[in-house]
Amino acid sequence: MTRDDALALDAVDPLAQFRDAFDLPKGVIYLDGNSLGPPAKTALARLADVGAREWGQDLIRSWNVNGWIDAPLRVGGKIAGLIGAQPNEVTVADSTSVNLFKLAAGALSLQPGRATILSETGNFPTDLYVLQGLAALLPGVELKAVDADDLPAAIDEDVAVVVLTEVHYKSARRWDMAALTAAAHAKGALVLWDLSHSAGAVATDLNGSGADLAVGCGYKYLNGGPGAPAFLFVAERHQGAIRSPLSGWMGHAEPFAFDDAYRPAADIRAQITGTPPILGLAALEAGVDLQLQADPALVEAKGLALADLFIELAAERCAEFGVALASDRSARRGLHVALTHPEGYAIVQALMARGVVGDFRAPDVLRFGFSPLFLSFADIWDAVEILHDVLATAAWDTEAFRARAAVT
Ligand SMILES: *Cc1c(COP(=O)(O)O)cnc(C)c1O
Repeated sequence: MTRDDALALDAVDPLAQFRDAFDLPKGVIYLDGNSLGPPAKTALARLADVGAREWGQDLIRSWNVNGWIDAPLRVGGKIAGLIGAQPNEVTVADSTSVNLFKLAAGALSLQPGRATILSETGNFPTDLYVLQGLAALLPGVELKAVDADDLPAAIDEDVAVVVLTEVHYKSARRWDMAALTAAAHAKGALVLWDLSHSAGAVATDLNGSGADLAVGCGYKYLNGGPGAPAFLFVAERHQGAIRSPLSGWMGHAEPFAFDDAYRPAADIRAQITGTPPILGLAALEAGVDLQLQADPALVEAKGLALADLFIELAAERCAEFGVALASDRSARRGLHVALTHPEGYAIVQALMARGVVGDFRAPDVLRFGFSPLFLSFADIWDAVEILHDVLATAAWDTEAFRARAAVT
């Protein structure tokens, strides 16, 4: 594979025109859209308009005249189109962590007599921490975390809900959602999927997989902006029965009746807690609108092809420097790739100094994300060229690159 071969792939890339929708800084190859997606030009314009006109001029009338009050359901309904859900099954609300708490508690409310929450060891930390907190709050409820390989066999008649991340945040290994969901249902358990590394990346099909519940992140591949609000999915058949432990006024059947007694909405609105974050929703909606213009199957196929090219070139050119592949190439995968090296942190810093932005995940993982809307095959070729140079010259081997910042 030469750089010309990569350019030839770019020439026939059906998603190539999406690159113009972003204004990435010159000289940067951004391989971290899986951690913080960049702003679409339309998102920045939208933020300016929501700030100056809707907030600044229309003031509180905007809840009605500019559709602010409908934004969680409107944007959720659009996200539904990216994850194989119906529009009435998805809303935007809170953060991924908070949504996990709400839906894991909600799953327990649907499963009287069952007291185990099952997850995998090495799941994203917030998922395990939130579940630990929930179990500590509910007498008798226990969180059991087992190795991924042992997980299907660990689903027994006491498991209320299995909580898994579809695409693992480090290895990128991707669960077979339909198969795991069927295995859980066979034992009477529900499954709560975390789609943080799925939405906007892989062609997840919640309803095609018989999924029960899901949450996901707005600021990764959906490009919703730093701290963007998250989304959640409740299959229509569970709405009405599922209970949210955070019974805020926006989940009430009639929020503006100002009743003393909580009466939950019968639909997905019951999972909205408080006042929606309108500025965050505005940026997220622009990111989602852009994503909806791309066929999810093409997005997944291009992302996997970019990742494959990276793996192939890195194996060919960087293995001699002690870089190993931590993502199983033969497994079902998402759109990022994990390499390992004992000096991974310093190497990631040295790459950033050369314009190649990835991230580091303790203890030794160099992680690179392949967002299909703004990356080209030539970008991947150039990134590996720079990685090779950083390794071959040991440019990473300085005190400055080893000094850890607060956020890795
Ligand atoms: C990024 C990510 C989150 C983020 O949760 P926040 O509440 O937004 O901090 C949660 N779960 C997974 C699997 C993630 O990758």
